[in-house]
Amino acid sequence: MQRITILGATGSIGASTLDVLARHPDKYRVHALSAHARVEELAAQCRQFRPQRAVVGTAEAAARLRGLLAGLPVDVDHGEAALCDIASSAETDTVMAAIVGAAGLAPTLAAARAGKKVLLANKEALVMSGQLFMDAVREHKATLLPIDSEHNAIFQSLPAHYARDPDAAGVAKILLTASGGPFLHRAVDTLGDVTPEEACKHPNWSMGRKISVDSATMMNKGLEVIEAHWLFGAPPERIEVLIHPQSVIHSMVSYTDGSVLAQLGNPDMRTPIAHALAYPQRIASGVAQLDLTQWAALQFQHPDFDRFPCLALAFDALRAGGTAPALLNAANEVAVQAFLDRRIGFRDIDRVVRRVMDENPCGAASGIDAVLAQDACARDAAGRIVSGLQGA
Ligand code: NDP
Ligand code: MG
Repeated sequence: MQRITILGATGSIGASTLDVLARHPDKYRVHALSAHARVEELAAQCRQFRPQRAVVGTAEAAARLRGLLAGLPVDVDHGEAALCDIASSAETDTVMAAIVGAAGLAPTLAAARAGKKVLLANKEALVMSGQLFMDAVREHKATLLPIDSEHNAIFQSLPAHYARDPDAAGVAKILLTASGGPFLHRAVDTLGDVTPEEACKHPNWSMGRKISVDSATMMNKGLEVIEAHWLFGAPPERIEVLIHPQSVIHSMVSYTDGSVLAQLGNPDMRTPIAHALAYPQRIASGVAQLDLTQWAALQFQHPDFDRFPCLALAFDALRAGGTAPALLNAANEVAVQAFLDRRIGFRDIDRVVRRVMDENPCGAASGIDAVLAQDACARDAAGRIVSGLQGA
């Protein structure tokens, strides 16, 4: 029995994870579940999966959850320390890191430091902490498996000996595919008018609101470039983004001998989740087999950086190094929330991120404190710029 903690159980990835787990009660047991504010949803999950522990955001939410779970033997707690505790507990083997944004950093890092098998969906945590996170994985002998569909595809397309000896693998390039999101063909001069509802309507994937907006700006792909850099030790010039609107090929690796290996499948996150849960075995995920005859053509094109300036900003942050990716990520989180709250327009997202990057110096990512300080400073700066845009 693999004992599982799901950080962010009530989200899109959390729900897909529970869907896969429910198909294999003989293999997996849920140790702990977390949510932030959606207490009713978490209570329903607790009734079905009977975890030993549940963690929410606030004392008030915890009191409500205790009320809803009266009579069930679930230990309810709240706050970041409790999240770190369920991520590092001796009672759990595997941690699905599926909190959205920087809020996931501390518990995901705690899981790595406790040597757990970490299934990483929370890309922002890795973008922020980069080398520090990878060092923690190595030092504490954690197992890190990517859930992000592209990185999971790349992982599947690399040889098993890649981690031990990357130079011998002959990798020429990592080809990160991107759908291009809902605005791939929309006139660029009308992008200022898009609503949160339009931005969240992804053509191929059903996801949480923040990552949906990131997909529409392609900041998501930018964060994924940084994620790929850390997961696979690839320098920026060996990571290429290719727009592939059908989202059937989830990413590829090209080799020096001219071979290109790809992973294909229907766009459903239960495939990478099942892959990582069972790795190195395979289990059923509930995803239908891919019917290639349904696809008349698979298309590919280079991204247009004028349409998607956030992608260029992310490459800039990766090349700058140090705490620059943490700054990029924090500015983007503030800008995306302001857009979702209708305080700024869609095109203001890249303006806010660019201004925060231009106006704030970055330093060495010498420790988690330096990363968190950069995150806080970028949030302040982005908040001020958002207020200025609202007043304009
Ligand atoms: P959702 O918004 O659907 O879910 C987010 C989860 O995190 C919820 O359980 C939410 O709780 C919890 N949460 C939100 N804020 C906090 C906080 N401050 N502290 C603790 N917990 C919090 O997001 P997704 O499932 O779409 O995405 C999760 C992560 O996975 C993101 O990093 C995303 O980039 C990544 N990812 C997602 C993919 C997808 O298909 N959805 C694909 C690839 C990566 P509550 O419900 O109570 O608000
Ligand atoms: Mg992805």
